[in-house]
Amino acid sequence: MLRLNNICKVFDGKPALNALSLEISDGEFVVLVGPSGCGKSTLLRLLAGLETVSDGEIWLKEENITSLSPRERNFAMIFQNYALFPHLSVRDNITFGMKIRKEEKASWQPRLERVAQMLQLETLLDRKPAKLSGGQRQRVAMARAIVRNPRLFLMDEPLSNLDARLRSEVRDSIMALHQQLKTSTIYVTHDQTEAMSMADRIVVLNNGHVQQVGKPEHLYASPANLFVAGFIGSPA
Ligand code: ATP
Ligand code: MG
Repeated sequence: MLRLNNICKVFDGKPALNALSLEISDGEFVVLVGPSGCGKSTLLRLLAGLETVSDGEIWLKEENITSLSPRERNFAMIFQNYALFPHLSVRDNITFGMKIRKEEKASWQPRLERVAQMLQLETLLDRKPAKLSGGQRQRVAMARAIVRNPRLFLMDEPLSNLDARLRSEVRDSIMALHQQLKTSTIYVTHDQTEAMSMADRIVVLNNGHVQQVGKPEHLYASPANLFVAGFIGSPA
């Protein structure tokens, strides 16, 4: 269980997140939606440890992780621009982190093989990123994140640079992975259809405030206010 208690983040005197509280169960796939500038990426960056909170606490199970470094948290962050190393092969991109940490090959080799198989990258391991499609590159970025067994996935619009066909391909890979790994995931998107089809629960954010949290069908049938109705596209 991940618990956010009264998280506030202030940039230059202006609140980006305001007393945000949220609980995410083990294995849950939570989709975060809301208009541009409402604080979605800020929330993911705070969770990843890339920003510090102005106030509030983050708990993972019984551990207060609010002041842990990104490495100590061991969460995986997947962005829209996958930032692969162009001069390294797919294999070396995926195993880069383990080599940096001087992990023994015998320990990571089986994990590499399993992850490559899960993401259908087995035949691409010797290629350079320039010779991959956008969808394949995003799958390499996911493999790189998964191979170190993160405790939580944070995905910030991972499909938004892909065309429609690749988007559905990578979305299927993400859902298939989630079925296998059951790692709790927070997934940011602008796309209501994506949110409705992927989420166990949707969190609607506006101006740094949670407007409503619930199962997709609940938000659609019973939006808490006009903002949620408008955003989810329900008839209320
Ligand atoms: P989008 O959908 O466009 O990606 P978002 O919901 O991810 O938007 P954030 O990037 O979290 O929005 O930004 C929330 C607010 O915080 C915005 O008003 C933004 O300008 C501000 N902000 C974010 N990062 C910083 C920063 N490093 N310094 C100052 N202000 C920031
Ligand atoms: Mg953003």
